Amino acid sequence: MATFAEYVEANRERFLEELKDFTSQPSVAAQAWGMQEMADKVMARLSKLGAKTRLIPVEDGFPVVYGEIGDGPKTLLIYDHYDVQPPEPLELWTSPPWEPEIRDGKFYARGVADNKSDLLLRIQAIESWLATEGELPLKIKWVLEGEEEIGSPNLGKFVADNRELVQGADGCLWEFGAKDAHENPMLICGLKGIIYIELHAHGANRDLHSGAASIVENPAWRLVWALATLKNERDEITIDGYSEFVRPPNELELEAASKIPFDTNLELAKFGVKEFINGVRDFEAIKKLYFTPTVTICGLHSGYTGPGGKTVLPNHAFVKLDFRLVPEQTPEKVIELLRKHLDARGFTDIQIERTEAGEHVARSPLDSNIVQAAKAAARATYGREAVVYPTAAGSGPMYELCQQLGIPAVSAGAGYPDSRGHAPNENIRVADYFEGITFIRELIRNFARN
Ligand SMILES: [Zn+2]
Repeated sequence: MATFAEYVEANRERFLEELKDFTSQPSVAAQAWGMQEMADKVMARLSKLGAKTRLIPVEDGFPVVYGEIGDGPKTLLIYDHYDVQPPEPLELWTSPPWEPEIRDGKFYARGVADNKSDLLLRIQAIESWLATEGELPLKIKWVLEGEEEIGSPNLGKFVADNRELVQGADGCLWEFGAKDAHENPMLICGLKGIIYIELHAHGANRDLHSGAASIVENPAWRLVWALATLKNERDEITIDGYSEFVRPPNELELEAASKIPFDTNLELAKFGVKEFINGVRDFEAIKKLYFTPTVTICGLHSGYTGPGGKTVLPNHAFVKLDFRLVPEQTPEKVIELLRKHLDARGFTDIQIERTEAGEHVARSPLDSNIVQAAKAAARATYGREAVVYPTAAGSGPMYELCQQLGIPAVSAGAGYPDSRGHAPNENIRVADYFEGITFIRELIRNFARN
């Protein structure tokens, strides 16, 4: 009987062909393009593995592919998504986004890094296990959704409706992951929350000649005054009561963060800025990046912004804001505090429009079994220690699927710093793909016995 490594080697070309098949199928949730076809492909691949599968419809959305295989005292949940970002701008791709191509050891296609490579290699790793090691030592469950790239609007409802499928899992392998610039495998153990809103200020019943500005209030000014109360020049969020809901990082999180490589001068050069906010460097910059909440003006609009001048007094101004959240903040609490804060300063006329549901914060305990198993698996696969990130600076539906059910989650995957997720020439390195398959074997081994 072949060893795991021999089996993977013998099936190398077929595994890559399957990845080509997956990535040549468009599946753009934002454009409702190819979604059913992709869900069917994923279903078929899981069934071929021998998993029990179900296509679970989502009202006004794209179905969840659910699968189950193996048995044992432990259950590992795998979360991936089969939707991808739109491919535009097409002219910036060296090879077309839906025509996968391997060049110089890199596999180019839309969605290959985010997240079809991880989705597929996890299945292929389990196939290789079954072919060479026999029975799985644990139960594996898949939740593969089709709406991650549009903010997972229905995942919370999916979990509420199908709680029995997910709850009780002992750990979750989350969807994305990469090596860092020093070739260290990264393990990401949480996500910030997010709430995206608009603030609107209204003035006269129409735009006016700006001569009227001495007696008619300008909503653009009102909006600017209101915004100025949300944050000060030290980058402290000054919304009343805001800091009371911020849990500072615990000791394990701080210790892990202290090992995150961060070359301040290199990062400054990368962004083309002279210094970071408040002059933070090194560990101070890491702490600020991962452990503090933000409020960001993402867009600001009022009046006339075209070429030349127009002396207009606008009647409407609006701003798009995102708030990145840390434990124990919630989207609901932010809206509540913001409303009270604005009202207390006389900005009762400024409307808050919540355009998206938002996402809760997720943070897995760093001493949980899944994190420990992933660290051991990284050591065995890559021959070096993983860099453990208590959280990413970005957001995702980890709370909805995992944290609210008490399931710790960790991200690890086949990307690298130049994978260009969401951008033209998205790619992974083929060698990382096959190392990723080995990593899954080691993860299963370590997680089952922990
Ligand atoms: Zn993505």
